Amino acid sequence: MAKIEMKTPLVEMDGDEMTRVIWKMIKDELIHPFINLKSEYYDLGLKYRNETNDKVTAESAQATLKYGVAVKCATITPNAARVKEYELKEMWKSPNGTIRAMLDGTVFRTPILVKGIEPYVRTWKEPITIARHAYGDVYKNAEIKVNVPGKAELVFTAENGTETRELIHEFKGAGVIQGIHNLNSSIESFARACFEYALELKVDLWFSSKDTISKKYDHTFKDIFEEIYEKDYKEKFKNKGITYFYTLIDDAVARVVRSEGGFLWACKNYDGDVMSDMLATAFGSLSMMTSVLVSPKGVWEYEAAHGTVQRHYYKYLKGETTSTNSIATIFAWSGALRKRGELDGINELVNFADMLEKAVIDTVESGTMTKDLADITTFKNVEVADTEEFIKAIRTKLENLF
Ligand code: NAD
Repeated sequence: MAKIEMKTPLVEMDGDEMTRVIWKMIKDELIHPFINLKSEYYDLGLKYRNETNDKVTAESAQATLKYGVAVKCATITPNAARVKEYELKEMWKSPNGTIRAMLDGTVFRTPILVKGIEPYVRTWKEPITIARHAYGDVYKNAEIKVNVPGKAELVFTAENGTETRELIHEFKGAGVIQGIHNLNSSIESFARACFEYALELKVDLWFSSKDTISKKYDHTFKDIFEEIYEKDYKEKFKNKGITYFYTLIDDAVARVVRSEGGFLWACKNYDGDVMSDMLATAFGSLSMMTSVLVSPKGVWEYEAAHGTVQRHYYKYLKGETTSTNSIATIFAWSGALRKRGELDGINELVNFADMLEKAVIDTVESGTMTKDLADITTFKNVEVADTEEFIKAIRTKLENLF
């Protein structure tokens, strides 16, 4: 069988711990035997990030802007314990944060559905994709703890010196104050990314906020979405047979739970933070959640939503057997290869991505799965595969599809 040829390189961002181990296995078993892989490799493993003073992260984001499609392995975001463990020169920033800032993108997370791993919500039949606005609000706040009586005011001083004031509260005793902000430009690019991605997935777009209570702040989000929709997307949505609809966050939550799934739900920063974990758990497992960063600059970066599975890595280092789920990481590869195939007009690559995903799903549905899935499956007799056996079982299925 001739291997599939590529035109443009994929930006490959390697990572840390157990996912780094899986990364190599996926390439050896599921990619190299079938594709003459063209990739530009960046090692975002913490050791090399430290050696390069984290320059490699910025370089990988630059390469993504240049080529358009990247696939990323999970990486460690250093904390105090990691600074010690890896003898870091500094507590380097989250690579995902750095890359997201450079690409100005929105993260979309979609669960992978397979028979035998049933969503906790019985009505859900199709995946629900969640988009989280990743700028501002409570994540870029200013806070004050108040211990004495006094007046709290919101003050905006324009460049020309004029002041706008709004009373927050007359404190009679102790309390807390918080100031948050957002930018129209950031909300606009979030809205555009959501409209574009809904078109790509051919699913309805829902957006929710609390505009009845927050008549200026949240209402601005609602208005910006509405304006962009009316101006640039109404026609396109109509042509694809999909709709955009706005509702209050509390109404959205109720509707989501009663729905059959199959739509894209755009959330403000905090709502998205909370709801994406709720969706991942309710659909079955964090290890089955994919993630793609879509930039309005026409750039896509695919990854698994989970982390480096540190606990399994320490077992692996001790030579113990691990059963780490590689599905979301494999789907990051298939997502990136499909997108590369679409952009370069290589049908074989698009077909290969479909086959790879089918091989993964067939493997689980025929009863071979990793321990995390075996623990929650509705199937009676399952074969629990270790990390490597699972990937090899997928390879066998994949070979049979050719
Ligand atoms: P984690 O996602 O690695 O693990 C959370 C829990 O889910 C653990 O109990 C783990 O065993 C389980 N789990 C996750 N993925 C699994 C899989 N594929 N197979 C089986 N079980 C799985 O998150 P964590 O433990 O909070 O973080 C570990 C490291 O990952 C941290 O250093 C963190 O900075 C990093 N992290 C990276 C990313 C990313 O790169 N996108 C995201 C989250 C966390």
